[in-house]
Amino acid sequence: MEKLLCGNKGHALNNFKIAAGLKKGKHKGMFWHDGDFYKWMEAAVYVYAQNKDKKILKQLDQYIEIIAKAQDKDGYLQTQIQLREEVDRYENRKYHEMYNTGHLLISACIHHNVTKKSNFPNIAIKQADLLYTLFYPETKQLGRFGFNQTQIMGLVELYRATDDKKYLELAARFINRRGKYEVDHNSTTIGYPIGDMVQERVPLRKSKEAAGHAVLALYYYAGAADVYAETGERALKQALDRLWENITQKKMYVTGAVGQAHYGASSNRDKIEEGFIDDFMLPNMTAYNETCANLCNAMFSYRMLGIKGESKYADIIELVLFNSGLSGINIEGNKYFYANPLRMIHNSRAYNSHENATETPERECYLECFCCPPNLVRTVAKLSSWAYSITANGLAINLFGGNKLKTKLDDGSELQLIQKTNYPWDGNISIKVKKCKSSSFEILIRIPDWANGSALKINGKEVNSKISAGKYLKLKRRWESNDTIDLSLPIHTQLVEAHPRVEEARNQIAVKRGPVVYCVETPDLPTSTEILDVYLQGNSNFESKHQKDFLGGVTTLKTDLLIREDKKTDKLYNSVSKPKWKTHATQLVPYFAWSNRGKAEMTVFLPVLWNKEN
Ligand SMILES: [Zn+2]
Repeated sequence: MEKLLCGNKGHALNNFKIAAGLKKGKHKGMFWHDGDFYKWMEAAVYVYAQNKDKKILKQLDQYIEIIAKAQDKDGYLQTQIQLREEVDRYENRKYHEMYNTGHLLISACIHHNVTKKSNFPNIAIKQADLLYTLFYPETKQLGRFGFNQTQIMGLVELYRATDDKKYLELAARFINRRGKYEVDHNSTTIGYPIGDMVQERVPLRKSKEAAGHAVLALYYYAGAADVYAETGERALKQALDRLWENITQKKMYVTGAVGQAHYGASSNRDKIEEGFIDDFMLPNMTAYNETCANLCNAMFSYRMLGIKGESKYADIIELVLFNSGLSGINIEGNKYFYANPLRMIHNSRAYNSHENATETPERECYLECFCCPPNLVRTVAKLSSWAYSITANGLAINLFGGNKLKTKLDDGSELQLIQKTNYPWDGNISIKVKKCKSSSFEILIRIPDWANGSALKINGKEVNSKISAGKYLKLKRRWESNDTIDLSLPIHTQLVEAHPRVEEARNQIAVKRGPVVYCVETPDLPTSTEILDVYLQGNSNFESKHQKDFLGGVTTLKTDLLIREDKKTDKLYNSVSKPKWKTHATQLVPYFAWSNRGKAEMTVFLPVLWNKEN
């Protein structure tokens, strides 16, 4: 990815070099390209934090030097504007200045947290101070300027890093002025939809449903959650609770994906692109589900987890990570999807990757709109920090995976754990205490919402306390080194149906095994089978088989599917009597791993035939 962003293909570093006077040329790429470069830098910092490879740090320092040279004296830094004659600073919000600023602030703060260096934060502070001067005062001209508002998260991050309250106050102001101004086109909005599309129709504290562009909305809600975490304002939390419930109970796919439509309308009749539409309107084939939106769903949930400590938030994080987040990248890790629908047919023109409709897509090495790949990389690179949380007197285990933990509890005492597991393919998780304080403390373990019938042993002895799916199990005792927790989660195949109001999934079934959603792909079907002819028998058996050399090492599900054989016409409606069926023994593969075997048709939801005698 570095080669892409720093070379002539991605051009992101070139833009900074040109703005710094180190190279001749024009700005290339989307208006938000600076922000995507900062996201990649953030990912690189996380990787450095893990492997301590000094080459990464040195390379980043060189990039930071170029970025510093590109910054104007007063702190302004936006190559998409600096390198264009025809447009002024903060002239029109579609130029994504807030988005670029947000990612600059976040990336610089993370760099500082890990390296303690001030070179990157110095750039961020200059930029944030300029923002404060221009945007803290209430002006009609700039009152609606916030757009794709990662600057809210960035400002809170900068407040945490510097302890300077003005950054928090500015972050809160960006939230407070949303919904305050009349929604009508003016010179700062021309060229892009307004109103619900950019979450400016309804003030956040009065919002009852998620609206608009899914990425814009979720960055905004995540920023508001950051502000709440610092201010503790009740009305803000109540609004975020409502929005989170609305998204996860009425507008989210079984894969954790969000953003139901490429284009549509909000309930206030505003035009919506790449975003949320009505409750329960969840089409499979035309779903947009931008990789960024899915990841932002996890980011918002991670913040709610920090605020409320309830396991339902970690359930969503995990759902995204094993499904709609991971589907954005191929098995080799060098090609990307922008949109992540739940069904694909050949030549449907239903798949819309950003502005281009592509017929039967495959992941691509470079996307002109390069927001998703660095977002995915930085999320994967920082997952270790999402896996555990420090609690008032102990630690919570949010996510499972083999790892060694070295941390400090809230009282400063050292804690070391070793977690061993083949999760999510296998539900056995072993956690060994390597080092801990001598007084008692708690270890909270998330029992996923699907894991009914879990069992747990400490040092080989069954724990009697009730283990409830969808809750954290609290284990409080005087832990000693070599204490071992053995958790057994019942990973088996489950058939999942949607709420009956989801019309596009009525009488259809998705197959899940633990947190992993499965799909059927045409490479596993007889040649020239169309995915729309494939049905599932409700009483089917599923035999799980781990295949370590297949699709990077996945567990597949062997089953019999039904393929409908009677000829169809191209007519919109046909009379039907008794369809003809053929049984076909095949396998289902994890959804995240689809489209790694050439152009394929695929579906997550399958129409189901229930035998009423069974
Ligand atoms: Zn994206």
